[in-house]
Amino acid sequence: MNHFPVIVLGVGSMGSAACYYLAKKGIKVLGLEQFTLTHELGSHAGQSRIIRKAYFEHSDYVPLLERAYQNWKALETACNNQFYFPTGLLYAGKPESILIKGVIESSELYGVEVSRISKAEVKSRFQQFALPDDYEVLFEPDAGFLTPERCIRAFAEQALNLGASIHTHEKVVSWKQEGDRISVTSDTQTYSCNKLIITAGAWANDFLPGLANNLHVTRQVLVWTTPRQPAQFQLNKFPCWLIDDHEHAGMYYGFPMLDETTFGKPAGLKSAHHYPGKSTTANQVNREVTSMEVDELTKAITRFVPESCESVKQTKTCLYTNTPDENFIIDFLPNQQDVIIACGFSGHGFKFASVVGEVLCDLATEGRTTQPIGFLSATRFKN
Ligand SMILES: Cc1cc2nc3c(=O)[nH]c(=O)nc-3n(C[C@H](O)[C@H](O)[C@H](O)COP(=O)(O)OP(=O)(O)OC[C@H]3O[C@@H](n4cnc5c(N)ncnc54)[C@H](O)[C@@H]3O)c2cc1C
Repeated sequence: MNHFPVIVLGVGSMGSAACYYLAKKGIKVLGLEQFTLTHELGSHAGQSRIIRKAYFEHSDYVPLLERAYQNWKALETACNNQFYFPTGLLYAGKPESILIKGVIESSELYGVEVSRISKAEVKSRFQQFALPDDYEVLFEPDAGFLTPERCIRAFAEQALNLGASIHTHEKVVSWKQEGDRISVTSDTQTYSCNKLIITAGAWANDFLPGLANNLHVTRQVLVWTTPRQPAQFQLNKFPCWLIDDHEHAGMYYGFPMLDETTFGKPAGLKSAHHYPGKSTTANQVNREVTSMEVDELTKAITRFVPESCESVKQTKTCLYTNTPDENFIIDFLPNQQDVIIACGFSGHGFKFASVVGEVLCDLATEGRTTQPIGFLSATRFKN
């Protein structure tokens, strides 16, 4: 009774999607989640995640994104619900910045629609922004945001409807290869499976000691503010945005204001800094946000979006799991063809969950995938 062809360790962003694609394929899958389905302690909390296609980080992600977009659409159709909100995305930075150069390169290579926005157009169309004169401004109309908690719940509900088992409040404590099977021990039971998929997010180090030097967890701070003129920042009035600030390392980004009824708490204008924060671990992270951290963040953001902060409504912390090159790891565990891993999403993975789930299902059931994941191999780093 305790044997499953596939067990998924961690039912968050990637694990819920893996359960869905496996169940859709008729595979008897068990997902084990230590907390509730969606929670605030990992990497997926906070209402919204940007989705964009002209990928500045690495153009090799673009084909995966094409598939991710298709799969999000298919999930919306299957659930008769909306998870992707196409607000468009405004990019800004110096012409030689990583962001601007990377967006142009990916958009030209793959024909992703991105337009240049003139200074006059910024003033007329995006008057909420105040950008330095020497910044280039680009706009990707098909970018927007996804609603992470709703996506995870949708994947899990669909998986359950298709026959998957998902146990919440059950923490995996260890796994071990035993002949041609793998035993997985939780805090309540021991199971066996033919294939184990590890999607443990910021806890991945607990199960992948060989990769621990290459998975670095950081604490990230998010802020929700009440802007001076809320009407200007509503969904459909204000786009998602990403700005490569030449004065600080990393990038600042934000979303339109989202109402509580549709999107959950907190209502407000959400913004953050995309840059690895303080080193931590998933079990020891300090969840308190200091007033100095809030001041630094709101000060940096109001330089670009001057009316964005009349008052601070709420703050949260969230976890990035960074690899040395900030690209994901999606592969078999080295020397372990029955264990598949997806980790190290380095603060930009959510938009890919719909294709990562499909890839994990391919690897577990076919031993390979047609999706181009070679650049995300687990063996590219030295230990
Ligand atoms: C502040 C912030 C902003 C971000 N913004 C964006 C964005 O705009 N766009 C974007 O694409 N991405 C973004 N990301 C990144 C994205 O959210 C993550 O890459 C993604 O959520 C990672 O998914 P995951 O499945 O690895 O982790 P999670 O979703 O955290 O799932 C891991 C799950 O494994 C479970 N687990 C761990 N250990 C065990 C165990 N022993 N037993 C059972 N269960 C276990 C955990 O409880 C958790 O539910 C952001 C991340 C943060 C923190």
